[in-house]
Parts: sequence; structure tokens; C-alpha cells
Amino acid sequence: MTREVWAFIEQENECVAPVSLELLSKARELADRLKGRVCGLLLGSGVTGLAEQAIHHGADRVLLADHPELALYRTLPYAKVITALVQERRPYIFLLGATPTGRDLAPRVASGIRAGLTADCTALQIGDFERGGETYPDLLYQIRPAFGGNIIATIVNPEMHPQMATVREGVMKQREPDSTRRGEIEMIEPGFDERDLALRVLKREMRAPTCDLKGASVIVAGGAGVGSRENFQLIRELAQALGGEVAASRAAVDAGFISHEHQVGQTGVTVRPRLYIACGISGAVQHRAGMDQSSKIVAINSDPDAPIFQVSHYKIVGDLNKVIPWMIRAYRADVAHLPTGESE
Ligand code: FAD
Repeated sequence: MTREVWAFIEQENECVAPVSLELLSKARELADRLKGRVCGLLLGSGVTGLAEQAIHHGADRVLLADHPELALYRTLPYAKVITALVQERRPYIFLLGATPTGRDLAPRVASGIRAGLTADCTALQIGDFERGGETYPDLLYQIRPAFGGNIIATIVNPEMHPQMATVREGVMKQREPDSTRRGEIEMIEPGFDERDLALRVLKREMRAPTCDLKGASVIVAGGAGVGSRENFQLIRELAQALGGEVAASRAAVDAGFISHEHQVGQTGVTVRPRLYIACGISGAVQHRAGMDQSSKIVAINSDPDAPIFQVSHYKIVGDLNKVIPWMIRAYRADVAHLPTGESE
């Protein structure tokens, strides 16, 4: 039996969601380890053109359901098509993005086929599992923080297949696409009845995001140590001076210093900027889970033993109220001496 690793390809406005491209890269790695194949699951209306993109990112085959009723995501029609495909073809592993859509769809499909599901995995690997003298080879290790981040749990699903997991955007690395890759596209003809289409979308309102943490190459993040909503202006000023985005720890968000969309970490956004400056952030495991893959980490903390220093490349022990204005002045003075256009 060929072991297939499936990835749900989420799309909107004729664009594949970044998390789906990341999942395809991970699926490719897992399938190579299993000597299996990668299959992308693409649903939508007028999305045929996206199938090639999935192949360039690692899929050997794309199952494509192109239907007007699939134009906008709705739980029932999407779950129906996918549950039927999974039941019929029994993939070995099935991965979905932990996006609002993936979080809605994955449990529906898992409960429909009586499979397990691990949400928000931070790593996925293949390995053996032993229980009661029996060895289950080549299972999916579904790895994620558990019990409030106090342990890292490895979850396996020896009996029920597919082994299903969701992964948040930014957690897995996306491979460079290979435009020479060739694959198969198989059209799926979905059939719906009235009950599947009971919910109609009458109107959509899109709100533009106020920040782009994912795309930022420089991020300045503030934590509880910033002290107040007013003082958070310091973080904004440093971010502005460096041309970066503003982020925060959960403690800063909970204290009302800034809104939740700026939160980095396990229950916020996962980021990998070129430079991450953590100011007044202790470095709890839940925060580190969202930023420890940044290329360079600078931490400013008055406590020399703060855990954030374990993951930072540059450590500044001091009061952020003094250090940040010094940094801004030093950076501006430096930039002022550069010839025009060399502020990078
Ligand atoms: P604190 O831990 O209070 O640290 C403040 C730091 O500021 C200290 O290290 C202190 O030394 C320093 N400081 C104080 N004054 C100054 C000063 N003047 N100058 C310099 N340094 C100073 N947290 C997240 O961030 N993101 C998440 O997504 C997230 N998800 C979670 C999910 C779960 C299920 C749970 C249980 C927790 C989660 N948390 C998350 C919370 C996390 O455990 C920590 O409580 C939180 O990250 C702490 O934020 P902090 O570092 O800003 O605050």
C-alpha cells in the first residue's frame, strides 16, 4: 500500500494560504521518509490554476473539487467532500492549517471518520511506537506543548488512520518551489443536497489587518515589563525608527497595552523575522514558541536570569526605559552618517 500524506490546500481570492504551502513542504518531507506520495486537497470555484502551484511546492497529485458551491468556505459542503474522499481513499496522514477554516473543518472530518486529531502541532516526525510488546512502525509523532506549556507532548495514533494534525501558520518552513516538478490533477465531482447547502453567505465584510507580523523582517515586541499602555509608545518609537512592526507578549495584551492581533506565541502569531527585539519580556515557553526561530534575537531585560536570554543572540541587561531611547538615538545617529539609501 502506498502511504499518502494529504495536505488541505486553503485558498482565498485565487491565492493559496501560506500555511498550506508550509504544510506541503512538511508533507513532502514526511512522505519521502515513508517512501510515499503527497496529495493536495484543493476545493473552491475557479481554482484550477492553483493546482500547479501545489505541485511545485511538493504535491505528487492534487484532488481538485471545483464547484460554485465551494466558492466560499462553508462547513457542511467542505466537510462532506473531504470526509467522503478520506473514507474512500484512506490516506495515511492528513494535515490541515490551524487557521479559522482548518480549526472548523478538521474536527468535523475527524469525528466523521472516527479518527484522532492533534491540534496546533509545533513539530511532526515519523517514528516507531511500542506498546504491550507490539511495535507500530512509522507512526506520525504529533508534537505540541501541553498542560499550559509545561511539557512537550508527543502524541501518536497507532490504530486509527489517517493520523490527523493541524499546524499553525509560520511553524513549518516553506521550501522553495520547483517549477519543473510534474504531478497529476484529478477532478472530483462533488454532489450536494439541500441539507449541505442550508447555510447561505449573504454578505461578507473584510477588515484590513492593522499589522503584518508574518511579513515583517524587523519586530519590536513589548511585554509586561513595559509597565503601561502609555509607555508602550516607547516600543512603537523603536519599531518606527527601525522600520519594523510592533508585537507583544500575552501579558502585555491581557494588561490592555495593545490589541491581540499583535500577540506573539502559542496562542498568538508565530514569526520568523530577521530581527526580533524583546523588551521587558520574561521569555515564557509559550512566548518563545512563537519567536525562537527568528534569525537574530535581541533581549532587553532588567533580570539577568530572565529565560528570554536563553534564546537571544544579544543580551542587554538593563531598564528598557533607558535602553530603548539610547538605541533610538544611536540608530538615528548612525543612519544620519550613512550615504542616502543605505539605512539597511
Ligand atoms: P512577565 O513574565 O511578567 O515578564 C516581564 C519581564 O519584564 C520580566 O522578565 C522582568 O524582569 C522584565 N522587566 C520588568 N521591568 C523591566 C524594565 N523596566 N526593563 C526591562 N525589563 C523589565 N504568552 C505569550 O507571550 N504568548 C502566547 O501566545 C501565550 N500563550 C499562552 C498559552 C497558554 C495555554 C498559557 C498557559 C500561557 C500563555 N502565555 C503566552 C503566557 C505566558 O505563560 C507568560 O505568562 C507571558 O508570556 C508573560 O509575559 P511577559 O514576559 O510579558 O510578562
